[in-house]
Amino acid sequence: MTNADFRKHAHALVDKMADFLEEIDSYPVKSTLEPKAVLDQLPALAPAAAESMADIIADFDQIIMPGMTHWQHPRFFAYFPANSSYPSLLAEMLTATLGAQCMIWDTSPAAAELEERMMEWLGSMLGLPQTFTGVIQDTASTATLCALLCARERVSHNRINEQGFYGMKQLRVYASSQTHSSIEKGVKIAGFGRENFVAVAVDEQLRLDPNALKAAILKDLANGFLPCCVVSTVGTTGTTAIDPGKAIADICSEFNIWLHIDAAFAGSALILPEYRWMIEGVEQADSFVFNPHKWLFTNFDCTAYFVKDVDALLRTFSILPEYLKTDHQNSVKNYRDWGIPLGRRFRALKLWFVIRSYGIEGLQERLRAHIQMAIDLEEKIASHPDFEIIAPRTLNAIFFALKDEEVDKANSRSEQLMKALNATGKVYFSHTKAHGRYIIRMVIGQTYVQQKDVDLAWQLIQECAKTL
Ligand SMILES: *Cc1c(COP(=O)(O)O)cnc(C)c1O
Repeated sequence: MTNADFRKHAHALVDKMADFLEEIDSYPVKSTLEPKAVLDQLPALAPAAAESMADIIADFDQIIMPGMTHWQHPRFFAYFPANSSYPSLLAEMLTATLGAQCMIWDTSPAAAELEERMMEWLGSMLGLPQTFTGVIQDTASTATLCALLCARERVSHNRINEQGFYGMKQLRVYASSQTHSSIEKGVKIAGFGRENFVAVAVDEQLRLDPNALKAAILKDLANGFLPCCVVSTVGTTGTTAIDPGKAIADICSEFNIWLHIDAAFAGSALILPEYRWMIEGVEQADSFVFNPHKWLFTNFDCTAYFVKDVDALLRTFSILPEYLKTDHQNSVKNYRDWGIPLGRRFRALKLWFVIRSYGIEGLQERLRAHIQMAIDLEEKIASHPDFEIIAPRTLNAIFFALKDEEVDKANSRSEQLMKALNATGKVYFSHTKAHGRYIIRMVIGQTYVQQKDVDLAWQLIQECAKTL
């Protein structure tokens, strides 16, 4: 392909991208394809001879598009969003064009320094302590793994990195029973052993119970275990419950345990001062993670990971082979030492575009609008005779089910309702289970969602419920 060809196709594709986003409403939200439908259309072997871009794009339209679930659809209410935006897309185009691998400062000084500044911007936008330093990671799962590894090295005085686990007491990691699966996965990967993940009981509102945490720690100490890390969740994946940060932080301080805060989804709401209560005690934490790629209009992937003690991070991860030594290594940030992979994408660029293009006020306005739509709909659902709210709303996510005198019936009817709704192609919900109930989860955080989309969803919910 020549530069002239590239220009031609790129112009055509930009039009296609803009058309798609303009008409996204008319696509089914969730792909309805059966397993292997796409695979069966793809040749078993790669083509020996070159194919034309026209053919490749035609196949994209025919084979790939029907197999896509549209995360940017305004009525994608499932999971937590991965919301994108126009400024973020523009930056991703430039990032792809530059194709830089930003492992060290020398391999693109602008990428390293923009990342440093973007993390400062985010830290202050969220009201994090000024003593925290940030770095971009690919996902919250990776950031949490980094936290677990740093906690492991702190408690073992950097011994495990050097000598392995031999002769160590068993290290324990605590989080609520509602915590994200990435914590347990991190515990497995970091070598703690899954049995050393302690799932702590929660209260009625599905928040970690600090008394249960303290009891678990005391019991472990009595049994010769070594408490290593507590993960406190701000916005659980199931029901956006907020663990009691201050009480947990005090327990961690008392026993000198690493405190990691997982605010992967809800962290974005900290740009609203009225939600800062969610991170009470944050100055006592050792690390904090949130995903701008969930609810801050920044294309997946972009995770912001903040730590109190940068040296602890560098001690855990840095390694300096001859080929990576540079003139400036002591005066600049070489982010390869701030996490797991050596190679790094230039992710700071999209944050810069997004934050500048919306402005803090623009971002706040969007988030408040999402939350208000959730408040209004939750009221309607709560006052409808056929429905009930099962878990309280904290932000922009609501948790409801069909009412029935018998719990089993309520559960099976709610499940049927969700499946019927998703089958319409007009909306997409996910579910969770808690309090013995099947709960339909509706998260209102998409870039393009408007009141009319929420109204349409509510109308469909009522209509579908009648036909069950
Ligand atoms: C989404 C989520 C994660 C995982 O995020 P990834 O970036 O996909 O790894 C972790 N914790 C919580 C609370 C989440 O909501």
